[in-house]
Amino acid sequence: MSDLHTHSAFSPDGASPLEEMAARAHEQGLKYFGVSEHFDFDYAACGILIHGEIMPLTDEEGYFSAARALQREYESKGMRLLVGGEYGFCPDKGCCERYLALTERQKPDFIINSVHTVDGADCYFPEYFENKSREQAYGDYLERVRESLDAPYPYDIVAHIGYVGRKAPYPDRMLRYDDFPALFDDILKTIVEKGKILEVNSSTRGIGAPFLPDTGVLARYFELGGRRLSFGSDAHDISRIAEGRERAAAALKALGFAALTIPDCGEYREILL
Ligand SMILES: [Zn+2]
Ligand SMILES: [Zn+2]
Repeated sequence: MSDLHTHSAFSPDGASPLEEMAARAHEQGLKYFGVSEHFDFDYAACGILIHGEIMPLTDEEGYFSAARALQREYESKGMRLLVGGEYGFCPDKGCCERYLALTERQKPDFIINSVHTVDGADCYFPEYFENKSREQAYGDYLERVRESLDAPYPYDIVAHIGYVGRKAPYPDRMLRYDDFPALFDDILKTIVEKGKILEVNSSTRGIGAPFLPDTGVLARYFELGGRRLSFGSDAHDISRIAEGRERAAAALKALGFAALTIPDCGEYREILL
């Protein structure tokens, strides 16, 4: 009954107005609807162009004030609308300081920590893969994910591990546990030690799997004591809110997980799967 990773038209690549996203989530019976607009300071700071242009930024003031108003509106309707943000991790150019300042200004209810860019390129675009082997392209991405876990801002959720595969030029795009077992162990143990939440993300068109990360990664997380999981559709319009949640829930139960964790202003609440 939760979807904690969604984008409205406030995000540069979102399509549906926030009011419509919230109405749709409520119609679908969600008890927890997390809005996580993009805050990607990494693109401009590192000079990463998307289709030849600088990526526009989410209208911070516009988003937070509209979302807080909707949050109040839906409180009485039985849906907790969580006002959050997805921060694109970047260790350089003062990005982390800017995320800290944003957090201080807006006090989001939850923060998603994501890796979209590695050393000046977006792993979603073909240029990232040029002159790299699969091992190097995926390994560099995963090293960056590891680095992102030490981000100085108080993030809650570690998003879409395996994002690098969404548009990768390989027949088998899924980043698997067996590709980098030692590095995955380091990442998963760190998530457990820090008490963070590992996201199960159902935006996987083109990867040939119902969700990210790979089932092998989730099984190992469980083995290492990881119990905190969130579900996110990564919907960028109303049609995909909560997409794939039943399938993900069934798979998680089969792996032994019993609950999802809802981060809400620094407090974590468990809801049964
Ligand atoms: Zn993302
Ligand atoms: Zn997203």
